[in-house]
Amino acid sequence: MTGTAVVVGAGIGGLATAIGLRRAGWSVSVVERRTETARYGTALGIHPTAQSALERLGVDAAFGGRAVPYRGARIRTPEGRVLASLPLERIERKAGRPELLISRPHLIDALLAALDAFGDVPLTYGENVFDVEALVTGHDLVVGADGIRSVVRAAYFGERSGPREVGTVAWIGTADFESGIHGETWGSGRFFGMTPVEPGRTNWYATVPGTVPAGDLPGYFEGWHDPIPRILTETDPAGWISYGIRHLFPALPAFVRAGKVALVGDAAHAMTPNLGQGACTAVLDAEALARNVARHGRSALPAALRGYDAERRRSAQRVAFGSRGLHRFMTTGRTGLRDSLVRLLPG
Ligand SMILES: Cc1cc2nc3c(=O)[nH]c(=O)nc-3n(C[C@H](O)[C@H](O)[C@H](O)COP(=O)(O)OP(=O)(O)OC[C@H]3O[C@@H](n4cnc5c(N)ncnc54)[C@H](O)[C@@H]3O)c2cc1C
Repeated sequence: MTGTAVVVGAGIGGLATAIGLRRAGWSVSVVERRTETARYGTALGIHPTAQSALERLGVDAAFGGRAVPYRGARIRTPEGRVLASLPLERIERKAGRPELLISRPHLIDALLAALDAFGDVPLTYGENVFDVEALVTGHDLVVGADGIRSVVRAAYFGERSGPREVGTVAWIGTADFESGIHGETWGSGRFFGMTPVEPGRTNWYATVPGTVPAGDLPGYFEGWHDPIPRILTETDPAGWISYGIRHLFPALPAFVRAGKVALVGDAAHAMTPNLGQGACTAVLDAEALARNVARHGRSALPAALRGYDAERRRSAQRVAFGSRGLHRFMTTGRTGLRDSLVRLLPG
């Protein structure tokens, strides 16, 4: 083995990083504060670039047939008028493969299986890391993959950057029927999205201006086109998840510190979900970090981390900035101007 690494957090970013570092020949361990893998979460978009990164990590990006291609999605008004297409077909033409949707538990399972296959990467559940310094002393490399409230970030990058609420609340869930149409419907200060996820089911997400009880959510979409009201009245609110939309602010001046600490995923650049890039950017970070570490070797770890930072920081922060801007645009009250601009998008 070329060095020892500990990864804090067993989400998508942490598991992908552990796989990459182990493939690079490092001795890797993962610590996770939850007592078991969280088996919830709805569909995540996997862009072709993230699919390629997963393949470079040795992970089957078709997820054993459990991912579905995302095509034919439109942006609509609440009355159901089509304003534009989401750029999925353009992405597919350019990349030669479609954007995929995979439910978060399936993606986590695929990553866990790839990690298990090594047989020598311990994943310790129920370990809530507080003492980052002790990890840094005991390992050649510490990776903070511990999400938007990262303790690794707080310890090594200071408290200046932290989670910032953007003032809206997201609701996500799965309906037990196929919606027939996909895409997003944009109203004033709120929107509703529907995507495929697996046969017979529809992944949906909604954003409203503030915290509301689940029972009030259908009222925000009353009179919207089919099947939006049906999704909200025919699915069990007990299966819905809601969270205040946040992003990391201000953007970090570096993703690496002290020649032996690196951040990946939400710990480095948590973003609003509007561009659907949270999981993708975490995978891209993981693959880039592992590749730079493999290229430079343990003796040149600071150079490897600088290479990772140069490759990923601006790119990930651009995506986060774009996602925040899109959130503003989608939830504006000036719907007339917004919809006129959306109609100008190429088909
Ligand atoms: C349970 C769960 C469900 C989600 N569901 C969705 C969804 O449905 N749709 C969507 O778009 N996004 C969802 N997300 C977010 C999405 O997966 C992430 O934004 C994206 O994949 C980036 O992942 P990440 O690995 O960087 O961070 P995260 O997914 O946040 O993972 C961070 C991990 O670090 C662990 N951790 C945090 N602090 C510590 C500590 N001190 N010590 C040890 N471990 C620690 C956390 O428990 C967590 O497992 C979900 C995240 C989680 C954790």
